Amino acid sequence: MALTGLQIYKLLPQTNCKECGYPTCLAFAMKLAAKQAELADCPYVSEEAKAQLAAAAAPPVRLVTVEGPGHKIEVGNETVLFRHEKTFFHQPGLFVRVKDTTPVAEIKAAVEAAMGYAVEYVGMSLHLDGVAVEAASGDAATFKAAVAAVLEVTDRALILMAADAALLETGLSATNGTRPLLYAATAENWEPVAALAKAKNSPLVVRADSLDEMAELTEKIKGAGVQDMVLDPAVRGLADTLVTLTQLRRLALKKNFRPLGFPLITFPGEVAEDLLDEAAFASQHIAKYGGFIVLDRFTPASAYALLALRANIYTNPQEPIKVQPGIYEINDPKPASPLMVTTNFSITYFSVANEVDGSGVPGWLLVADAEGMSVLTAWAAGKFDAERIAKAVKSTGIEDKISHKKLVIPGHVSVLLGELEEELPGWEILVGPREAVDLAGFLKLWNA
Ligand code: SF4
Repeated sequence: MALTGLQIYKLLPQTNCKECGYPTCLAFAMKLAAKQAELADCPYVSEEAKAQLAAAAAPPVRLVTVEGPGHKIEVGNETVLFRHEKTFFHQPGLFVRVKDTTPVAEIKAAVEAAMGYAVEYVGMSLHLDGVAVEAASGDAATFKAAVAAVLEVTDRALILMAADAALLETGLSATNGTRPLLYAATAENWEPVAALAKAKNSPLVVRADSLDEMAELTEKIKGAGVQDMVLDPAVRGLADTLVTLTQLRRLALKKNFRPLGFPLITFPGEVAEDLLDEAAFASQHIAKYGGFIVLDRFTPASAYALLALRANIYTNPQEPIKVQPGIYEINDPKPASPLMVTTNFSITYFSVANEVDGSGVPGWLLVADAEGMSVLTAWAAGKFDAERIAKAVKSTGIEDKISHKKLVIPGHVSVLLGELEEELPGWEILVGPREAVDLAGFLKLWNA
């Protein structure tokens, strides 16, 4: 938890010598609290105060990075319990588990299918993050072969799952140039597993049956030199996962309880009866508070739902998702094709573009800079008015591409018709439908 200015002031020398560039130690403390000054600017801070300030400045949930040969995922550094308080910063990694008891050809096919899946969603390319390889056979050579097979077909991040340090080390030997997450240190095996994680600079999952035991274990592992940890509180049911993961997040954020200030890992497939169950469990873990989510089933449909949910929860609610203003050509438009205008709010753009695309009618879509707001919001805020639309028409050069002077405006802003005719002399302004879904019918009439 960040310290207040007064708390920082108590750690400063309080001599008001001004060498930091501020008139008093209190003024300097206030700037430090606001992250507008550097502690190093005061030459007289004691080592003890430095250590306290550094510890207080550390994020309540540690940032953990897992890397594959061509893909990296960072999880942690969250600062709020609820997205609307600020934003969530690092989306959870979605992994698919394979077991080394499965034939290598089948492992490769499963990994290719899951890692090859990608979907375009409001201008973003969404995909899963990696593969968890489990040493279910208990045999070192089989495990190593499975890890190598996975890396032959994907460059995404890995989680290596094995019961002991020797097996994990064998799996690690097949992962040159990567930084997999190791699963898991327990009360029984933590010493050799932590030693391996330290030697290989790998992040490590810590699994315990109670939060007390978990806190004790993370402190021991930290003492052994491993900083990057991920917690598995060994709960699997829908209700107990929600309760335990929320408790862990609250302890980290509200109590600043460092021994439990790490990202969390979940396994929604372990108690799910079928694909739908697993997707429902995983949805809950995306919302609260999974950091790494290991799926046992993959289908494009379930992956799409989870990826879209994750994208929605992990976008910053204070920053609208925008597309670039300009002219977008849909269905290979000709000079006589209709010209429509909308705003650069991503969801608005994709709603309109998808409807025009689906209609099969070629068209020009003029996207005006409305600071990422939807049509009605932008109009109400004065960001989508006649002047801005006219400016977009003139600045994009669309007049050179079309053989007519007709502009279709959204039905919701029909009130702009008169002003637009004044701003764009010689143009015919047409009022389109209020909803994007009605565009197809409107455009077919245009062509008739
Ligand atoms: S340099 Fe340090 S001791 Fe001097 S005024 Fe600034 S904070 Fe206080």
